[in-house]
Amino acid sequence: MHAVRNIRLCTKDCLCLYVCPTGASDTENGQIDYKKCVEGCRACVDACISHAISLVPETFPQQKEKDAAVKKAILDLAASKVLQETSSAELAKTEKSPEARKLAKAMEISNKMMAEDLYREIGYMVPQNTDTKELLKSLLDNPSADFPKQEAEELLELLSR
Ligand code: SF4
Ligand code: SF4
Repeated sequence: MHAVRNIRLCTKDCLCLYVCPTGASDTENGQIDYKKCVEGCRACVDACISHAISLVPETFPQQKEKDAAVKKAILDLAASKVLQETSSAELAKTEKSPEARKLAKAMEISNKMMAEDLYREIGYMVPQNTDTKELLKSLLDNPSADFPKQEAEELLELLSR
């Protein structure tokens, strides 16, 4: 186990820094030093009144395989959320009233989050999942003009280690 900090919750009061026996919990750059957090002792977790620190395992268990019908239903729903996100994004740019643009922007973000959650639910965006690697490979086989090919190759190489 090692500690990770959610910098959105961190108030930089440095309590974790005082209690850490290895000096891993540097607040200057917002990160906890993975190499120094050798203890996984959770002193920082208990000290943080903002609940900004969690302990995470070194390796994650494999996700349980989902039934094909369930997978398809989730994929269909995710695709509809992506469509709604795209339409909302368009409206957020083109609507005349500022209130309507704000509402459309909120719907864009909300649909994006729902789509991400759904893809995560069936294993995409979980790095060690086979589907993630297969998706990257298929995108690299037929890349669109603006596809970030080099980044995708680097990510695939990282995931294959
Ligand atoms: S104790 Fe929590 S809030 Fe304070 S600096 Fe550490 S992570 Fe941030
Ligand atoms: S878990 Fe322990 S060693 Fe790791 S950062 Fe927190 S206090 Fe430091």
